[in-house]
Amino acid sequence: MSITKEQVTDALSNVIEPDLKKDLITLNMVRDIEIDGKNVSFSVVLTTPACPLKALIERACINAIIHFVDESANVTVNMTSDVTSKRKDDKALLPGVRNIIAVASGKGGVGKSTIASNLAVALAMDGARVGLVDADIYGPSAPIMFGLENQRLAVHEIDGKAMMEPVLKYGVKVLSIGFMVDPSKAIAWRGPMASRALTQLFSDAVWGDLDYMIIDLPPGTGDIHLSLVSTVPVTGAVIVTTPQQVSVADAIKGISLFQMDAINVPVLGLIENMAYFTPAELPDNKYYIFGKDGGKKLAEKLGINLLGQIPIVQSICESGDNGRPVVLDEGTPSNFAFMEMARNVAQQIAIRNANMEPTKIVQPVN
Ligand code: ADP
Repeated sequence: MSITKEQVTDALSNVIEPDLKKDLITLNMVRDIEIDGKNVSFSVVLTTPACPLKALIERACINAIIHFVDESANVTVNMTSDVTSKRKDDKALLPGVRNIIAVASGKGGVGKSTIASNLAVALAMDGARVGLVDADIYGPSAPIMFGLENQRLAVHEIDGKAMMEPVLKYGVKVLSIGFMVDPSKAIAWRGPMASRALTQLFSDAVWGDLDYMIIDLPPGTGDIHLSLVSTVPVTGAVIVTTPQQVSVADAIKGISLFQMDAINVPVLGLIENMAYFTPAELPDNKYYIFGKDGGKKLAEKLGINLLGQIPIVQSICESGDNGRPVVLDEGTPSNFAFMEMARNVAQQIAIRNANMEPTKIVQPVN
């Protein structure tokens, strides 16, 4: 008896997407079913190309056909993706951007920019369309971390308006406040000037279509954070901390800002940076120089996700200084740590989009 499309659909309705907790057929994730004798092929459209469950879902699809349809079937699954979005604003700004992710920290120097850069590059390495906005007006670091210190900003006139062109590097469209002004001048900006500069990064730049726009915020909880949430709808925030108590205490303040009723930006989770040190010559040893699991314990206490524990590695620091994010070095422990972190972030964005309301732009209080 020949295999029918209906049999394939029925079988795949037994495969549950573990994050969204519904089956693939109900979620409309299966497309293009083709049958030729014993050969069965179809596409599964995931919610992100950086899905950490990709291999698991593929395996479950193959097993379902073999188990429910024909044990001698030859199954080919084409794993693709269409990144989800939950925007319902008027899209006056960034109309082609599906998800806007703020990367924040309570303190400076905890590795927020390192995390933002490697997150952006990792998502691009998995096939997503990614932009990075370096909004850290007090210490823009994207120019150094992406090797773009001498970059001259290209400006085009579009419909009579001068528009900045983000720079494409390592698969990521990068725009830094450091490309616009001498950072030593930006540091003296008062609130309104800084806010205006932030808005220009969105309104006066050609961003096009992006799956993820990563925003590297200044440390702390200041004017720029408030400008951001009152300018664009932020899909979610990622908070970076180191394990020490001083950093953890400030991370709590960062988290509370996004969770305030008036702001209400979903906190996707916490990243513990500099979680431990492993000497290259003793790869099985972990030294908890700044204390053990400070970020992990905080995530547990607040009931938020721990998205990654990134070790202290000399090459993370060196690659930042050399203008080449370390995640690009495939096969290294740093690459694994950052890819896993980025996939966890992408997973939480997909879950957020499936289960929560769109973020509202905060109306400024006058
Ligand atoms: P922030 O944006 O929070 O101020 P940065 O990302 O600029 O912090 O990082 C501060 C310094 O620490 C940089 O020199 C960076 O290369 C280094 N650094 C960050 N994370 C790590 C890490 N996991 N291992 C080693 N060095 C790191």
